[in-house]
Amino acid sequence: MKSIDHLVDLLDQSRLPMVSRQKFLKTAGQGLVAGAVGSALLGCDKKPENNSSVSATVNTTSGPVPKLPATSPPAKVPADSTKPIELEQIKAKTEQEESPTPSPLPQDQRIGYALVGLGHLTLNQILPAFGACKKSKVVALVSGSPEKMQKVAAQYGVRKESCYNYADYDKLRENKEVQAIYIVLPNGMHAEYTIRGAQAGKHILCEKPMANSAQECQSMIDACQKAGRKLMIAYRIQYEPHHRIVREMIQKEQFGKVKSIMANNGQNSDNPDHWRFKKALAGGGSLPDVGLYCLNTIRYLLGEEPTEVVGYVHSTPNDPRFKEVEEQVNWLMKFPSGVQTSCATSYGHHDDKNYKVLADTGWIKMDPAFPYTGLQLETSQAQGKENQVIQHKISDQDQFAAEMDHFSECILENKRPFTPGEEGLQDQKIMEAIYRSAREGRPVKLAEVDKKDAFRGPEPKKSA
Ligand code: NAD
Repeated sequence: MKSIDHLVDLLDQSRLPMVSRQKFLKTAGQGLVAGAVGSALLGCDKKPENNSSVSATVNTTSGPVPKLPATSPPAKVPADSTKPIELEQIKAKTEQEESPTPSPLPQDQRIGYALVGLGHLTLNQILPAFGACKKSKVVALVSGSPEKMQKVAAQYGVRKESCYNYADYDKLRENKEVQAIYIVLPNGMHAEYTIRGAQAGKHILCEKPMANSAQECQSMIDACQKAGRKLMIAYRIQYEPHHRIVREMIQKEQFGKVKSIMANNGQNSDNPDHWRFKKALAGGGSLPDVGLYCLNTIRYLLGEEPTEVVGYVHSTPNDPRFKEVEEQVNWLMKFPSGVQTSCATSYGHHDDKNYKVLADTGWIKMDPAFPYTGLQLETSQAQGKENQVIQHKISDQDQFAAEMDHFSECILENKRPFTPGEEGLQDQKIMEAIYRSAREGRPVKLAEVDKKDAFRGPEPKKSA
């Protein structure tokens, strides 16, 4: 068990309100140590799981942020509009604390986004997420389908003059409401639309995978640098509270040194006519689409870069889906600290999205780990003769709102994004090494990177 001093230290860094600290330390004193800063939040509920183990549930205080359509700006913005509004207490002190009242930026101070591509991700996730944003708003759309765009524009209050097709995309330059472009197109189109967007003077948020090749990634970085615009890759997992807590647990060695990580992200994908099964538009199959989550999340959790990979690729013969792209990739990665990881991805098996971190004195499991909501975090650690399993109850946060607000904050405060283009380029280089290893039937070495978090910008604010 960690010492109370150590826990106080963790709590100091957590910026938890004092009453939460007192509750946590009381609980810790009774032997129920969740340990992680983020999970050191109220209401440990101890219940025996079996004869030899103890399980505990750790709750956070807030519910999910409601998704509301973007609203029109207020007529007049009061000078102190970003100060949190204080509300009277309505719950007993023994109940879970509420999160602070949100203090969103007024509409006229938010970063205006143009969304490019009105497919599944934009319509089902990104547009609804603007309702949960505090610093971002949607002001323009780009689509090849005028009818669909008209409907979406009406739903989200986008002006008719701010709707563009792919041919007049460059006219975004004249639209002063647009500061950032969010590219949500097939992977093979990311490079062209990033470069054109930067040349039109806009900051670029680009969906993952960054592009189809390391060369394309580099050209995107160069174009944004030349235009003096920011480039961020939309790695939503790196802005998500469950994963951020796991990263803290690992970095603070809560369970000692990490030895190995297993990660899976697979699903049964269909429709061989979809761009995801066309090499020119997708770049590859399951690896760049869903396998990338295993790769990018492991790099994020460890903060270090692999030095060697071994890969195997397989596709079911005569399956019409896999004429151009692969079905399944399994790969191993070796890290300088000695951590070894094993990952699997597929387009051909039932949905499975999880990881497990094995360390000296405990394990951390996230299952599921990569969906938009409903992530489940569990840890295990011996406590004397008992094995303590804790289910950490952490509220979902809209991952796209968190990611977009981080990018908006970088633009507003002139900061480097946490997941800049260099982060996407590094993933692309590693994926190319995995394919090469599979092709050549041998391990492939990667350039050694000494620095931790070498390709990331400053850590995002917790409240972003
Ligand atoms: P989708 O097929 O649903 O949407 C793609 C859009 O691009 C469609 O509106 C389509 O009309 C348009 N398009 C323009 N030119 C096209 C062309 N030549 N061929 C095909 N479509 C064309 O795809 P999606 O699932 O929304 O994925 C879009 C991007 O978002 C991809 O890069 C994908 O990897 C990424 N994505 C990220 C996440 C995440 O969780 N971050 C999830 C899903 C998708």
